[in-house]
Amino acid sequence: MSAPIRLLPPQVADAIAAGEVVERPASAVKELCENALDAGAARIDVDLEGGGLARIVTADDGAGIPGEQLPLAVARHATSKLASVDDLARVRSLGFRGEALASIAAVSDLRMLSRPAGAESAWLLRCRAGEVLEHRRAARAPGTTVEVCDLFHNTPARLVFLRSQRSEAAAAVRAVSDLALTHPEVAFTCRSDDRLAVRSPGGTLLDAAGAVFGSSAGELIVVDADGEIRVSGLISEPRSHRGTRAGLVLVVNGRRVHNRALVAAVEEAYAGLLPTGRHPFGVVHAVLDPSLVDVNVHPTKREVRLREEGRVFGALQRACWAALQEARISLAGARLPQLEAARGEASTGGEAGLVLHDGSFPLAGPEPWPPSSSARVGTPVLAGDALPGVGQPEHRLAQLAPLRPLAQAADGWLVAESPRGLVLVDPHAAHEKILYTQLLAESDAALHEGRAAASQLLLVDAVVSVDSTAVERLGERLDTLIALGFQLEPFGPGLVRCRGVPAAAGSVNAERLVREVLDGLEDGGDSAGRRRRLAALTACHAAVRLGDRIDPREQARLLERLVATPGGLTCPHGRPTVIVLDERSLRLAFGRPAI
Ligand code: ADP
Ligand code: MG
Repeated sequence: MSAPIRLLPPQVADAIAAGEVVERPASAVKELCENALDAGAARIDVDLEGGGLARIVTADDGAGIPGEQLPLAVARHATSKLASVDDLARVRSLGFRGEALASIAAVSDLRMLSRPAGAESAWLLRCRAGEVLEHRRAARAPGTTVEVCDLFHNTPARLVFLRSQRSEAAAAVRAVSDLALTHPEVAFTCRSDDRLAVRSPGGTLLDAAGAVFGSSAGELIVVDADGEIRVSGLISEPRSHRGTRAGLVLVVNGRRVHNRALVAAVEEAYAGLLPTGRHPFGVVHAVLDPSLVDVNVHPTKREVRLREEGRVFGALQRACWAALQEARISLAGARLPQLEAARGEASTGGEAGLVLHDGSFPLAGPEPWPPSSSARVGTPVLAGDALPGVGQPEHRLAQLAPLRPLAQAADGWLVAESPRGLVLVDPHAAHEKILYTQLLAESDAALHEGRAAASQLLLVDAVVSVDSTAVERLGERLDTLIALGFQLEPFGPGLVRCRGVPAAAGSVNAERLVREVLDGLEDGGDSAGRRRRLAALTACHAAVRLGDRIDPREQARLLERLVATPGGLTCPHGRPTVIVLDERSLRLAFGRPAI
């Protein structure tokens, strides 16, 4: 049986970062679920009414609370998880302050029904605004149910700060989703006003991600890096992204954390892969020596303090970067199966697998559909519980080698052949990414060796007229510019002279580039970000245009360099560089049976 619930001695209570634990329904939901997790539950069901303000019910199959200890569970600073100040340094449980139930009980009508596995019967405890009203035997299978009604009914001031029922419900559902991603082995359900919002089956991380991200889970790639800091998880491919950071869940030693630096570490791995203002989503777990993590810093335990944060940052960034090198290329047909998957869901209440073709779009041609082979109209090609997209053939950039140019289409697209199928290339995007990568590599090396980056002197200096603030900015940011290979200097009032441009930029129109570079200096951000932005700008100016004719030898070189470029499947602005028309997507598009 688990440890008894005890009142914390005052010196332990004082050592705890105290504060308001329940500020909104979502925080109550989180605390109740965390108690269930601490009790070893394998299944947790959450029911919400009116955004959680009218009613929250959590039911678990965990260790339960002995009847006589129920009143103590709702007492302040009473916990079974901590006995001394020393324990605080090695907290394993999610709770440890003995405050949550007391705080919730103080502002609601609370009922707890619990039975430990070996106990004869369950016990019920009812309190209102912190007063115990009822304590008696009752019936329940082993486990615990907590029902919280009329949250904040006696603290109208708190109610004022809440948003609409709908957004409170959304926040509570998100809290459950985050916990499902944090503890994928536990089965979670969450209903909001009788609508099933989350159902995580209790299995692998991929199962939980499928439950939380729905069909976007097919766009996640696996992160898996060993070492002193173990990093694992599922993160979005560069081709899919979101407008906010809320879709990224970070877990440190089994605890969901909100840590700006760690979010930035994951985002850094995407540098040059996503359009600006867009963010990755997914879940990343880091496991490290518990003595490096201090959880007792924030009242709601939202934040943790990390000793050697820099090391954790580096480990996360490297792990995600390595995973992104394996990202899949957009298949030309990729949108098609997705559409069909959505249709399959609609017809069967969200349970369907991927249906590649349901016969509802017209198919021309002499061959009847379906032909005699194994392909069947409307047959799910994946098992009912498989994730759309997972298990489909994948293509990685390096696997396209050797890439042989066939032609340049009228508008400028390159058509090439690879062992994986026909490949279409956006020559501008591809060239841009090659140059961008080359520019940054040279710049990194130059910074590392303490020299100026390689630059190419212009035959004739370019003199650019700019406004006087631009000349000033130039003075402040000269280091960044030298680190990229620019040779610029003030040249009288309102004039800047350019003697050289980054070597990789070749035959760029220096005057236009310099003017935009000086404009680009205005944007904020740190120096690494600025360097990347200017590298992207330079690459964009120096790259071939989409309509430019490229001779076959140059085409071959471009393709060869592209497949060797890390992260080469998107341009620095996040657009794809290649589209693969593989056998499968061509057959699908032409309505031929799969082989
Ligand atoms: P803490 O989690 O910090 O210990 P709480 O106020 O959240 O404080 O809970 C007080 C105590 O009640 C816990 O230490 C635990 O012993 C018991 N408890 C609460 N919820 C559950 C549950 N779902 N299953 C088993 N025990 C629980
Ligand atoms: Mg707790």
